Amino acid sequence: MSVDRTIAPPQKPLVIADRLCKTFGGGRSLFGSAAPALKAVDNVSFEIFPGETLGLVGESGSGKSTTGRVLLQLEEPTSGDIIFKGQNLTGLSKSLLKPHRRDMQIIFQDPYSSLNPRMTVGEFVAEPLIVHGAVTNKSERNDRVAALFRKVGLDPSFMTRYPHEFSGGQRQRVCIARGIALDPAFIVADEPITALDVSIQAQIVNLFQDLQDELGLTYLFIAHDLSMIRYLCHRVAVMLRGRIVEIGPCEAIFENPQHPYTRALLSAIP
Ligand code: ADP
Ligand code: MG
Repeated sequence: MSVDRTIAPPQKPLVIADRLCKTFGGGRSLFGSAAPALKAVDNVSFEIFPGETLGLVGESGSGKSTTGRVLLQLEEPTSGDIIFKGQNLTGLSKSLLKPHRRDMQIIFQDPYSSLNPRMTVGEFVAEPLIVHGAVTNKSERNDRVAALFRKVGLDPSFMTRYPHEFSGGQRQRVCIARGIALDPAFIVADEPITALDVSIQAQIVNLFQDLQDELGLTYLFIAHDLSMIRYLCHRVAVMLRGRIVEIGPCEAIFENPQHPYTRALLSAIP
């Protein structure tokens, strides 16, 4: 696995997280005592450049998923700003946020629970096209979904099938097809291979990479597997208890980790 993942010096960032904080709890309980607040994301700042993959690693509960969700405005930050394509998204009204929503997508860890068992996988991929009024003509939409299936390596004849007929890897391909249906610029992939058999993890990682090359996608790639991060990502951020303790090019972080936690993570690789 020796692919050259270096990129040309970047232009303006596509995404900026500026001093993001997300606190859970801390309100008053029924009896008036203050519940302890949890700083799931604590003053997190980073930039992601167009066409780049930023990896995000850290132990379970360190705030990776919350960072991803806040970045996509699926949850409001407690404080801090998200700047996407030069525009500050924090505090934008729903209608002003809508065009950005189709430009930023998320792919989840578990392709089993992401899919709707009562929808054919074709309907599932078509749904965002309908919701956003992107392709209103039914036969055009069908053609578009068939093209999306081909793009993610699925035979379009599978469109009329239901999720239970698919393997984990195929289900994740369906979720990816839905994720790219609206031609997004930015995708948060939240541990998209963790739930899959090891034998097919590399195939899905390669699919992410092929789609990036073809569509110019930008990723925040949350993962456990450090060797996969090194293979796929241009830079990596290491998260510990809500904070980013180290961020930099993969090469530098893997060869010369500065933070003790990063060193501990790396020393755990067999
Ligand atoms: P990771 O993805 O790194 O495992 P998460 O972002 O899911 O971490 O969670 C970070 C912390 O925030 C954890 O302690 C988790 O329990 C807490 N947390 C996440 N979501 C919520 C929520 N909706 N309500 C309360 N606490 C939450
Ligand atoms: Mg998570």
